[in-house]
Amino acid sequence: MRPGSDETVCEIAAGTSEDVDRAVTSAAAAQAEWRERKPGQRGRVLAAIAAGLRAEAAQLAELESAESGKPGWQSPIEIEGSAAYFDFYAGLANLPGGEIIDMGPGVHGYTRREPFGVIGVITPWNAPLSQASRGIAPALAAGNVVVAKPSEFTSATTLELARIAAEAGLPAGVLNVVTGDGAGAGRPLVEHPRVRKVAFTGSVLAGRAIGRVAADRIIPLTLELGGKSANIVFADADVEKAAAGSINAFLINAGQVCSAGTRLLVAEEIHDAFVEALLAGLRQVKPGETYGPQTTEAQFEKVLSYFEVARQDGATLAAGGAPVGDGWLVQPTVYTDVTNDMRIAREEIFGPVLTVVRFSSEEEAIAIANDSDYGLAAGLWTTDVSRAHRVAARLEAGQVYVNGWQAGLVEGPFGGYKNSGYGREKGLEALHHYTQTKFVAVTL
Ligand code: NAD
Repeated sequence: MRPGSDETVCEIAAGTSEDVDRAVTSAAAAQAEWRERKPGQRGRVLAAIAAGLRAEAAQLAELESAESGKPGWQSPIEIEGSAAYFDFYAGLANLPGGEIIDMGPGVHGYTRREPFGVIGVITPWNAPLSQASRGIAPALAAGNVVVAKPSEFTSATTLELARIAAEAGLPAGVLNVVTGDGAGAGRPLVEHPRVRKVAFTGSVLAGRAIGRVAADRIIPLTLELGGKSANIVFADADVEKAAAGSINAFLINAGQVCSAGTRLLVAEEIHDAFVEALLAGLRQVKPGETYGPQTTEAQFEKVLSYFEVARQDGATLAAGGAPVGDGWLVQPTVYTDVTNDMRIAREEIFGPVLTVVRFSSEEEAIAIANDSDYGLAAGLWTTDVSRAHRVAARLEAGQVYVNGWQAGLVEGPFGGYKNSGYGREKGLEALHHYTQTKFVAVTL
């Protein structure tokens, strides 16, 4: 469905455990040939997939916007980002060699990095093609085969990726997609005895359920879950840049970003002036153009329910706090006079909603930032380079952005501390997460 309307974009099959079994069996059958290929040959196929995505970028962007509600300017950036994953891991395909270990005379020791086999890649609806590519590209580069399970709300571009990959020369069976919901297709994928690792992106709730199955099966898991990321503005920050960056950090994709900077911590000395700059910036924002509607009706209702929570919490509504028009579009919303114990400061809302908390010292800012069940990202704005490194080292978050909310990078490792998950996607580290290490000792 096109978000906020009755228009059907496409019909997607509700896959079952039989479909999962067929996909896993097809993947397992394709694995030997794929893993025996020279890494550079695998890399060339990945580079061809990147080119295929770019060749169809306009149609893919249209499809992504239709299913998710992203505005027209945003989807092309995400399609390019998806191609960038395939390019990046095409370049790294030769890398997962092992190391030689000095065992002394008489024994030659070395390690090999080997693929797991069949990987399940389960993704949510907020950045469909990008998140699928983020898992699939490094998994394939390392010699694994994949069964992907996209969100039941946004499956189309992942299906298109599989077609484009086949046309780019990926052998049949190496990448499979099973559509359907979590109970019908997701869970059977995690439970399937031939799936050797799962990379999951989504909610803490589903992450916990998957974690229990993975624990029983003794398979490794990467969990990329939610967040309530702190964004700290120190008194010495460049106010104009920090205000613009902080707006972008919480509003992009209608706030439906796991690493969104939704907990703004502002130094007491500049609090009022900074909030004023922020609100002035927000007056330039056009809901429906700057960002789109919430992607699902449940998500829309969830965001609205937090307006009532904020009222009960006793926060001051400084902007927004209501839907716009007939669809699932929400006004950019800011709450001030928020304390970090309020529900709106602790729970992931996943909408265009910002909470503003004051602090009076660096120490207090760090304490508030770290007082969260989550630890996905954190940001800080300062012109003091020593403070930037000092604070970055003490924030409990998988990534820290200094003077710019750089959430979209392919090259650096990405993942959570605490309830935001474990394991890492992106960067060289993700490639290593898709391999297991074998030690070989040769007696000479
Ligand atoms: P969700 O957890 O409901 O669903 C995510 C995916 O898991 C879907 O494909 C769904 O069908 C599947 N699924 C659900 N239950 C399952 C189960 N028991 N077993 C197997 N598969 C199951 O999440 P959502 O509502 O689609 O996405 C929003 C959430 O995702 C937010 O909490 C957000 O923070 C998180 N997210 C995290 C990241 C990250 O990288 N850390 C990125 C984007 C979104």
